[in-house]
Amino acid sequence: MSVLNVDRPEFMAEEDIRLFEDACIRFFEQSAPPERVEKWRKDKVVERAMWEEAAQAGLLGLSTPEEYGGMGGDYRHEVILMEQIGLQGVDGFGASLHNAIVMPYIFHYGTEDQKRKWLPRLASGELISAIAMTEPGAGSDLQGIRTTAKKSGNGYVINGSKTFITNGQTANFIIVVAKTDPTQGARGTSLMVVETDEVEGFERGRNLNKLGQPAQDTSELFFNDVKIPAENLLGSEEGKGFFQLMGQLPQERLNIAVQGMATIERALKLTIDYVKDRKAFGKAIIDFQNTQFVLAECKTEATVARVFVNHCIGEHLKGKLDAATASMAKYWVTDLEGKIVDRCLQLFGGYGFMDEYPISRMYRDSRIQRIYGGTNEIMKMLIARTL
Ligand SMILES: Cc1cc2nc3c(=O)[nH]c(=O)nc-3n(C[C@H](O)[C@H](O)[C@H](O)COP(=O)(O)OP(=O)(O)OC[C@H]3O[C@@H](n4cnc5c(N)ncnc54)[C@H](O)[C@@H]3O)c2cc1C
Repeated sequence: MSVLNVDRPEFMAEEDIRLFEDACIRFFEQSAPPERVEKWRKDKVVERAMWEEAAQAGLLGLSTPEEYGGMGGDYRHEVILMEQIGLQGVDGFGASLHNAIVMPYIFHYGTEDQKRKWLPRLASGELISAIAMTEPGAGSDLQGIRTTAKKSGNGYVINGSKTFITNGQTANFIIVVAKTDPTQGARGTSLMVVETDEVEGFERGRNLNKLGQPAQDTSELFFNDVKIPAENLLGSEEGKGFFQLMGQLPQERLNIAVQGMATIERALKLTIDYVKDRKAFGKAIIDFQNTQFVLAECKTEATVARVFVNHCIGEHLKGKLDAATASMAKYWVTDLEGKIVDRCLQLFGGYGFMDEYPISRMYRDSRIQRIYGGTNEIMKMLIARTL
Protein backbone atom coordinates (compact mmCIF):
# COMPACT_ATOMS: atom_id res chain seq x y z
CA MET A 1 0.00 0.00 0.00
CA SER A 2 1.47 3.33 -1.01
CA VAL A 3 2.18 5.92 1.66
CA LEU A 4 1.30 8.70 -0.79
CA ASN A 5 -2.06 10.46 -1.01
CA VAL A 6 -2.46 9.79 -4.71
CA ASP A 7 -5.29 7.68 -6.05
CA ARG A 8 -4.36 5.21 -8.71
CA PRO A 9 -5.24 6.48 -12.13
CA GLU A 10 -8.30 4.73 -13.52
CA PHE A 11 -6.27 2.85 -16.09
CA MET A 12 -4.25 1.21 -13.30
CA ALA A 13 -7.28 0.50 -11.11
CA GLU A 14 -9.04 -1.95 -13.43
CA GLU A 15 -9.80 -5.29 -11.91
CA ASP A 16 -7.54 -7.41 -14.09
CA ILE A 17 -4.60 -5.14 -13.25
CA ARG A 18 -5.39 -5.46 -9.52
CA LEU A 19 -5.56 -9.24 -9.83
CA PHE A 20 -2.29 -9.28 -11.72
CA GLU A 21 -0.69 -7.20 -8.98
CA ASP A 22 -1.87 -9.68 -6.34
CA ALA A 23 -0.42 -12.52 -8.41
CA CYS A 24 2.95 -10.70 -8.65
CA ILE A 25 3.00 -10.08 -4.90
CA ARG A 26 2.32 -13.75 -4.20
CA PHE A 27 4.91 -14.84 -6.75
CA PHE A 28 7.72 -12.79 -5.21
CA GLU A 29 6.71 -13.76 -1.67
CA GLN A 30 7.09 -17.40 -2.67
CA SER A 31 9.94 -17.28 -5.17
CA ALA A 32 12.06 -14.45 -3.82
CA PRO A 33 12.11 -14.65 -0.02
CA PRO A 34 14.86 -12.53 1.59
CA GLU A 35 17.23 -15.48 2.11
CA ARG A 36 17.06 -16.42 -1.59
CA VAL A 37 17.67 -12.83 -2.71
CA GLU A 38 20.61 -12.69 -0.29
CA LYS A 39 22.06 -15.79 -1.96
CA TRP A 40 21.80 -14.10 -5.37
CA ARG A 41 23.68 -11.13 -3.97
CA LYS A 42 26.45 -13.39 -2.69
CA ASP A 43 26.59 -15.33 -5.98
CA LYS A 44 26.43 -12.07 -7.96
CA VAL A 45 23.78 -13.55 -10.21
CA VAL A 46 20.11 -14.51 -10.16
CA GLU A 47 19.98 -18.22 -10.87
CA ARG A 48 18.35 -19.46 -14.06
CA ALA A 49 15.73 -21.36 -12.07
CA MET A 50 14.22 -18.02 -11.05
CA TRP A 51 13.72 -17.11 -14.70
CA GLU A 52 12.01 -20.44 -15.30
CA GLU A 53 9.75 -19.89 -12.30
CA ALA A 54 8.88 -16.41 -13.55
CA ALA A 55 8.08 -17.82 -16.99
CA GLN A 56 5.85 -20.50 -15.49
CA ALA A 57 4.04 -17.85 -13.47
CA GLY A 58 3.39 -15.97 -16.73
CA LEU A 59 5.64 -13.03 -15.88
CA LEU A 60 7.84 -13.07 -18.99
CA GLY A 61 6.62 -11.49 -22.21
CA LEU A 62 3.89 -9.61 -20.36
CA SER A 63 3.16 -7.07 -23.06
CA THR A 64 3.90 -9.38 -25.99
CA PRO A 65 0.79 -10.54 -27.87
CA GLU A 66 -0.39 -14.10 -27.26
CA GLU A 67 0.06 -15.02 -30.91
CA TYR A 68 3.81 -14.68 -30.30
CA GLY A 69 3.73 -16.70 -27.09
CA GLY A 70 3.44 -13.69 -24.79
CA MET A 71 0.87 -12.91 -22.13
CA GLY A 72 -1.10 -10.45 -24.26
CA GLY A 73 -0.97 -7.68 -21.68
CA ASP A 74 0.20 -4.10 -22.10
CA TYR A 75 2.53 -1.59 -20.49
CA ARG A 76 0.43 -1.51 -17.31
CA HIS A 77 1.42 -5.09 -16.60
CA GLU A 78 5.08 -4.17 -17.07
CA VAL A 79 4.60 -1.28 -14.63
CA ILE A 80 3.16 -3.61 -12.00
CA LEU A 81 6.03 -6.07 -12.38
CA MET A 82 8.67 -3.33 -12.15
CA GLU A 83 6.94 -1.83 -9.10
CA GLN A 84 6.77 -5.14 -7.30
CA ILE A 85 10.42 -5.93 -8.03
CA GLY A 86 11.26 -2.58 -6.39
CA LEU A 87 8.75 -2.70 -3.55
CA GLN A 88 9.70 -6.21 -2.53
CA GLY A 89 13.44 -5.65 -2.78
CA VAL A 90 14.08 -8.24 -5.51
CA ASP A 91 17.08 -6.26 -6.68
CA GLY A 92 19.09 -7.82 -9.46
CA PHE A 93 16.34 -9.74 -11.24
CA GLY A 94 16.55 -8.38 -14.78
CA ALA A 95 13.08 -9.42 -15.95
CA SER A 96 12.02 -5.87 -16.74
CA LEU A 97 14.96 -5.42 -19.12
CA HIS A 98 13.99 -8.70 -20.79
CA ASN A 99 10.26 -7.85 -20.98
CA ALA A 100 10.07 -4.12 -21.37
CA ILE A 101 13.26 -3.37 -23.30
CA VAL A 102 14.51 -6.33 -25.33
CA MET A 103 11.24 -8.02 -26.32
CA PRO A 104 9.75 -4.76 -27.64
CA TYR A 105 12.70 -4.42 -30.04
CA ILE A 106 11.87 -7.79 -31.53
CA PHE A 107 8.15 -7.09 -31.55
CA HIS A 108 8.40 -3.61 -33.11
CA TYR A 109 11.28 -4.09 -35.53
CA GLY A 110 11.56 -7.83 -36.16
CA THR A 111 10.34 -9.37 -39.40
CA GLU A 112 7.41 -11.77 -39.07
CA ASP A 113 9.86 -14.69 -39.17
CA GLN A 114 12.03 -13.15 -36.46
CA LYS A 115 9.04 -12.53 -34.20
CA ARG A 116 7.80 -16.10 -34.63
CA LYS A 117 11.27 -17.50 -34.06
CA TRP A 118 12.30 -15.55 -30.98
CA LEU A 119 9.37 -14.12 -29.06
CA PRO A 120 7.87 -17.45 -27.89
CA ARG A 121 11.28 -18.63 -26.68
CA LEU A 122 11.86 -15.33 -24.87
CA ALA A 123 8.45 -15.64 -23.22
CA SER A 124 9.10 -19.22 -22.13
CA GLY A 125 12.43 -18.36 -20.53
CA GLU A 126 14.34 -20.62 -22.93
CA LEU A 127 16.06 -17.42 -24.06
CA ILE A 128 17.20 -14.86 -21.49
CA SER A 129 18.09 -11.56 -23.04
CA ALA A 130 20.45 -8.62 -22.85
CA ILE A 131 21.10 -5.55 -24.94
CA ALA A 132 24.72 -4.63 -25.57
CA MET A 133 25.27 -1.02 -26.56
CA THR A 134 27.96 0.29 -24.23
CA GLU A 135 31.66 -0.29 -24.95
CA PRO A 136 34.76 0.54 -22.95
CA GLY A 137 35.30 3.57 -25.22
CA ALA A 138 31.70 4.63 -25.86
CA GLY A 139 28.78 5.05 -23.49
CA SER A 140 26.88 8.30 -23.75
CA ASP A 141 28.27 8.90 -27.23
CA LEU A 142 26.94 5.74 -28.86
CA GLN A 143 27.95 6.90 -32.31
CA GLY A 144 31.50 6.20 -31.18
CA ILE A 145 31.02 2.43 -30.88
CA ARG A 146 33.66 0.29 -32.60
CA THR A 147 32.02 -3.13 -32.69
CA THR A 148 31.57 -4.14 -36.30
CA ALA A 149 29.28 -6.58 -38.11
CA LYS A 150 30.79 -7.24 -41.52
CA LYS A 151 28.98 -9.02 -44.30
CA SER A 152 30.57 -12.37 -45.02
CA GLY A 153 29.03 -14.98 -47.29
CA ASN A 154 25.46 -15.57 -46.21
CA GLY A 155 25.82 -13.80 -42.88
CA TYR A 156 27.79 -11.38 -40.71
CA VAL A 157 30.95 -11.59 -38.63
CA ILE A 158 30.90 -9.60 -35.40
CA ASN A 159 34.03 -8.24 -33.72
CA GLY A 160 34.25 -6.01 -30.69
CA SER A 161 33.78 -5.77 -26.96
CA LYS A 162 30.98 -4.50 -24.76
CA THR A 163 30.89 -3.63 -21.10
CA PHE A 164 28.40 -3.01 -18.26
CA ILE A 165 25.88 -5.38 -19.85
CA THR A 166 22.93 -6.27 -17.61
CA ASN A 167 22.15 -10.03 -17.51
CA GLY A 168 25.60 -10.46 -19.05
CA GLN A 169 26.43 -13.81 -17.43
CA THR A 170 23.00 -15.33 -17.96
CA ALA A 171 21.79 -14.06 -21.31
CA ASN A 172 21.83 -16.41 -24.28
CA PHE A 173 20.06 -13.91 -26.54
CA ILE A 174 21.88 -10.63 -27.01
CA ILE A 175 20.99 -7.66 -29.17
CA VAL A 176 24.36 -6.23 -30.16
CA VAL A 177 24.65 -2.67 -31.43
CA ALA A 178 27.25 -2.81 -34.21
CA LYS A 179 28.50 -0.85 -37.20
CA THR A 180 27.56 -2.48 -40.47
CA ASP A 181 29.15 0.49 -42.24
CA PRO A 182 31.90 2.10 -40.15
CA THR A 183 32.23 4.95 -42.65
CA GLN A 184 28.75 6.16 -41.75
CA GLY A 185 27.66 7.53 -38.36
CA ALA A 186 24.15 6.74 -37.21
CA ARG A 187 23.19 5.42 -40.63
CA GLY A 188 25.90 2.78 -40.46
CA THR A 189 24.63 1.24 -37.22
CA SER A 190 22.53 -1.93 -37.02
CA LEU A 191 21.10 -4.19 -34.33
CA MET A 192 22.36 -7.77 -34.61
CA VAL A 193 20.93 -10.69 -32.67
CA VAL A 194 23.43 -13.17 -31.24
CA GLU A 195 22.09 -16.44 -29.87
CA THR A 196 25.12 -17.26 -27.80
CA ASP A 197 24.43 -21.02 -27.61
CA GLU A 198 24.65 -21.18 -31.40
CA VAL A 199 27.93 -19.40 -32.08
CA GLU A 200 31.67 -19.66 -31.64
CA GLY A 201 33.94 -16.80 -30.68
CA PHE A 202 31.64 -15.32 -28.05
CA GLU A 203 33.11 -14.94 -24.57
CA ARG A 204 31.76 -13.58 -21.35
CA GLY A 205 34.21 -11.44 -19.42
CA ARG A 206 34.13 -10.50 -15.77
CA ASN A 207 30.94 -10.35 -13.76
CA LEU A 208 31.76 -6.85 -12.54
CA ASN A 209 32.03 -5.82 -8.87
CA LYS A 210 29.81 -2.82 -8.26
CA LEU A 211 28.79 -0.23 -5.68
CA GLY A 212 25.24 -1.60 -5.66
CA GLN A 213 22.86 -4.13 -7.20
CA PRO A 214 25.22 -7.01 -6.42
CA ALA A 215 22.76 -9.71 -7.55
CA GLN A 216 22.77 -8.32 -11.08
CA ASP A 217 25.30 -9.95 -13.38
CA THR A 218 26.57 -6.81 -15.08
CA SER A 219 29.36 -8.02 -17.35
CA GLU A 220 31.88 -7.54 -20.09
CA LEU A 221 31.22 -9.38 -23.35
CA PHE A 222 33.65 -10.17 -26.15
CA PHE A 223 32.92 -10.99 -29.78
CA ASN A 224 35.81 -12.51 -31.70
CA ASP A 225 34.84 -13.37 -35.27
CA VAL A 226 31.35 -14.38 -34.17
CA LYS A 227 29.46 -15.60 -37.24
CA ILE A 228 25.72 -15.09 -37.33
CA PRO A 229 23.26 -15.76 -40.17
CA ALA A 230 21.98 -12.84 -42.26
CA GLU A 231 18.49 -13.40 -40.76
CA ASN A 232 19.85 -12.18 -37.40
CA LEU A 233 20.01 -8.59 -38.60
CA LEU A 234 17.02 -7.14 -36.74
CA GLY A 235 14.45 -5.99 -39.25
CA SER A 236 16.50 -7.22 -42.22
CA GLU A 237 17.61 -3.76 -43.41
CA GLU A 238 21.07 -2.47 -42.51
CA GLY A 239 21.65 0.97 -41.04
CA LYS A 240 18.40 1.18 -39.08
CA GLY A 241 19.92 0.55 -35.64
CA PHE A 242 19.97 4.12 -34.38
CA PHE A 243 16.42 4.80 -35.42
CA GLN A 244 15.30 1.58 -33.76
CA LEU A 245 17.11 2.60 -30.56
CA MET A 246 15.57 6.09 -30.65
CA GLY A 247 12.08 4.65 -31.06
CA GLN A 248 12.31 2.68 -27.83
CA LEU A 249 13.91 5.35 -25.68
CA PRO A 250 10.72 6.86 -24.22
CA GLN A 251 9.65 3.50 -22.78
CA GLU A 252 13.15 2.66 -21.53
CA ARG A 253 13.39 5.96 -19.72
CA LEU A 254 9.91 5.70 -18.30
CA ASN A 255 10.81 2.22 -16.99
CA ILE A 256 13.61 3.76 -14.94
CA ALA A 257 11.29 6.44 -13.57
CA VAL A 258 8.74 3.76 -12.60
CA GLN A 259 11.47 1.80 -10.82
CA GLY A 260 12.68 4.97 -9.09
CA MET A 261 9.18 5.73 -7.91
CA ALA A 262 8.86 2.25 -6.36
CA THR A 263 12.12 2.79 -4.47
CA ILE A 264 10.94 6.19 -3.22
CA GLU A 265 7.67 4.75 -1.95
CA ARG A 266 9.40 1.82 -0.29
CA ALA A 267 11.98 4.12 1.37
CA LEU A 268 9.25 6.33 2.78
CA LYS A 269 7.20 3.41 4.06
CA LEU A 270 10.19 1.79 5.79
CA THR A 271 11.29 5.09 7.29
CA ILE A 272 7.88 6.13 8.59
CA ASP A 273 7.54 2.73 10.29
CA TYR A 274 11.03 3.01 11.76
CA VAL A 275 10.74 6.53 13.19
CA LYS A 276 7.46 5.63 14.88
CA ASP A 277 9.17 2.77 16.65
CA ARG A 278 12.66 4.04 17.47
CA LYS A 279 13.03 6.20 20.59
CA ALA A 280 15.54 8.83 21.73
CA PHE A 281 15.37 11.38 24.55
CA GLY A 282 12.26 9.62 25.87
CA LYS A 283 10.15 9.94 22.73
CA ALA A 284 9.71 8.40 19.32
CA ILE A 285 11.95 9.84 16.59
CA ILE A 286 8.84 10.91 14.70
CA ASP A 287 7.94 13.28 17.55
CA PHE A 288 10.91 15.53 16.73
CA GLN A 289 9.84 18.35 14.51
CA ASN A 290 12.91 17.83 12.31
CA THR A 291 11.77 14.29 11.50
CA GLN A 292 8.27 15.48 10.72
CA PHE A 293 9.51 18.28 8.46
CA VAL A 294 11.98 16.05 6.61
CA LEU A 295 9.33 13.42 5.98
CA ALA A 296 6.69 16.01 5.11
CA GLU A 297 9.04 17.41 2.47
CA CYS A 298 9.88 13.94 1.15
CA LYS A 299 6.22 12.97 0.99
CA THR A 300 5.33 16.18 -0.84
CA GLU A 301 8.05 15.73 -3.44
CA ALA A 302 7.21 12.05 -3.82
CA THR A 303 3.57 12.96 -4.39
CA VAL A 304 4.51 15.42 -7.12
CA ALA A 305 6.70 12.76 -8.72
CA ARG A 306 3.97 10.12 -8.53
CA VAL A 307 1.46 12.39 -10.25
CA PHE A 308 3.96 13.11 -13.02
CA VAL A 309 4.92 9.44 -13.45
CA ASN A 310 1.24 8.46 -13.63
CA HIS A 311 0.75 11.14 -16.27
CA CYS A 312 3.68 9.76 -18.29
CA ILE A 313 2.36 6.17 -18.03
CA GLY A 314 -1.03 7.38 -19.27
CA GLU A 315 0.55 9.25 -22.18
CA HIS A 316 2.68 6.23 -23.06
CA LEU A 317 -0.37 3.95 -23.09
CA LYS A 318 -1.90 6.35 -25.62
CA GLY A 319 1.32 6.26 -27.68
CA LYS A 320 1.91 9.95 -26.97
CA LEU A 321 4.91 10.00 -24.62
CA ASP A 322 7.66 11.96 -26.37
CA ALA A 323 11.38 11.54 -25.77
CA ALA A 324 11.81 14.87 -23.96
CA THR A 325 9.02 14.21 -21.45
CA ALA A 326 10.30 10.69 -20.80
CA SER A 327 13.76 12.21 -20.23
CA MET A 328 12.26 14.63 -17.69
CA ALA A 329 10.73 11.69 -15.83
CA LYS A 330 13.97 9.70 -15.89
CA TYR A 331 16.23 12.50 -14.70
CA TRP A 332 13.93 14.19 -12.23
CA VAL A 333 12.56 11.07 -10.53
CA THR A 334 15.99 9.43 -10.21
CA ASP A 335 17.52 12.63 -8.80
CA LEU A 336 14.66 12.72 -6.30
CA GLU A 337 15.15 9.03 -5.54
CA GLY A 338 18.76 9.71 -4.56
CA LYS A 339 17.75 12.65 -2.40
CA ILE A 340 14.85 10.93 -0.62
CA VAL A 341 16.72 7.68 0.03
CA ASP A 342 19.61 9.70 1.49
CA ARG A 343 17.33 11.72 3.77
CA CYS A 344 15.47 8.59 4.87
CA LEU A 345 18.74 6.81 5.63
CA GLN A 346 19.75 9.68 7.90
CA LEU A 347 16.65 9.09 10.01
CA PHE A 348 17.78 5.51 10.67
CA GLY A 349 20.98 6.78 12.32
CA GLY A 350 23.75 4.15 12.44
CA TYR A 351 21.32 1.38 11.55
CA GLY A 352 20.86 3.02 8.18
CA PHE A 353 24.49 2.19 7.44
CA MET A 354 24.06 -1.50 8.26
CA ASP A 355 23.53 -4.12 5.58
CA GLU A 356 20.65 -5.75 7.48
CA TYR A 357 18.58 -2.63 6.95
CA PRO A 358 17.13 -2.41 3.43
CA ILE A 359 17.54 1.38 3.38
CA SER A 360 21.31 0.91 3.30
CA ARG A 361 21.05 -1.33 0.25
CA MET A 362 18.59 1.03 -1.42
CA TYR A 363 21.08 3.86 -0.98
CA ARG A 364 23.73 1.95 -2.89
CA ASP A 365 21.40 0.35 -5.43
CA SER A 366 19.70 3.58 -6.41
CA ARG A 367 22.91 5.43 -7.31
CA ILE A 368 23.09 3.81 -10.75
CA GLN A 369 19.65 5.08 -11.69
CA ARG A 370 21.12 8.50 -12.49
CA ILE A 371 23.71 6.93 -14.77
CA TYR A 372 22.29 4.08 -16.87
CA GLY A 373 19.62 4.34 -19.52
CA GLY A 374 21.32 7.59 -20.59
CA THR A 375 22.90 9.70 -17.86
CA ASN A 376 20.85 12.48 -16.32
CA GLU A 377 23.10 14.99 -18.06
CA ILE A 378 22.20 13.45 -21.42
CA MET A 379 18.52 13.65 -20.40
CA LYS A 380 18.92 17.39 -19.88
CA MET A 381 20.56 17.75 -23.30
CA LEU A 382 17.56 16.03 -24.90
CA ILE A 383 15.12 18.25 -23.00
CA ALA A 384 17.14 21.35 -23.91
CA ARG A 385 16.76 20.55 -27.61
CA THR A 386 13.04 21.24 -27.26
CA LEU A 387 13.54 24.72 -25.76
C1 LIG B 1 24.93 -1.36 -13.51
C2 LIG B 1 24.96 -0.92 -14.93
C3 LIG B 1 24.13 -1.55 -15.85
C4 LIG B 1 24.17 -1.18 -17.20
N1 LIG B 1 23.44 -1.89 -18.12
C5 LIG B 1 23.68 -1.68 -19.45
C6 LIG B 1 23.11 -2.56 -20.44
O1 LIG B 1 22.39 -3.51 -20.13
N2 LIG B 1 23.41 -2.33 -21.75
C7 LIG B 1 24.22 -1.31 -22.14
O2 LIG B 1 24.46 -1.17 -23.32
N3 LIG B 1 24.76 -0.46 -21.22
C8 LIG B 1 24.53 -0.63 -19.90
N4 LIG B 1 25.10 0.19 -18.96
C9 LIG B 1 25.93 1.30 -19.42
C10 LIG B 1 25.33 2.68 -19.16
O3 LIG B 1 24.22 2.89 -19.97
C11 LIG B 1 26.46 3.70 -19.38
O4 LIG B 1 27.36 3.56 -18.29
C12 LIG B 1 25.95 5.13 -19.47
O5 LIG B 1 25.22 5.32 -20.64
C13 LIG B 1 27.08 6.17 -19.42
O6 LIG B 1 28.12 5.86 -20.30
P1 LIG B 1 29.63 5.86 -19.77
O7 LIG B 1 29.65 5.00 -18.56
O8 LIG B 1 30.52 5.50 -20.89
O9 LIG B 1 29.90 7.34 -19.29
P2 LIG B 1 30.46 8.54 -20.21
O10 LIG B 1 29.68 8.62 -21.46
O11 LIG B 1 31.94 8.41 -20.30
O12 LIG B 1 30.11 9.79 -19.30
C14 LIG B 1 30.93 10.25 -18.21
C15 LIG B 1 30.30 11.54 -17.67
O13 LIG B 1 30.31 12.54 -18.70
C16 LIG B 1 29.01 13.05 -18.86
N5 LIG B 1 28.79 13.40 -20.26
C17 LIG B 1 29.01 12.65 -21.36
N6 LIG B 1 28.65 13.31 -22.47
C18 LIG B 1 28.21 14.53 -22.05
C19 LIG B 1 27.71 15.68 -22.73
N7 LIG B 1 27.58 15.71 -24.07
N8 LIG B 1 27.35 16.76 -22.00
C20 LIG B 1 27.47 16.72 -20.65
N9 LIG B 1 27.95 15.68 -19.95
C21 LIG B 1 28.30 14.59 -20.65
C22 LIG B 1 28.09 11.94 -18.43
O14 LIG B 1 26.81 12.41 -18.09
C23 LIG B 1 28.85 11.37 -17.25
O15 LIG B 1 28.58 12.14 -16.11
C24 LIG B 1 25.02 -0.12 -17.60
C25 LIG B 1 25.83 0.52 -16.68
C26 LIG B 1 25.82 0.12 -15.37
C27 LIG B 1 26.79 0.78 -14.42
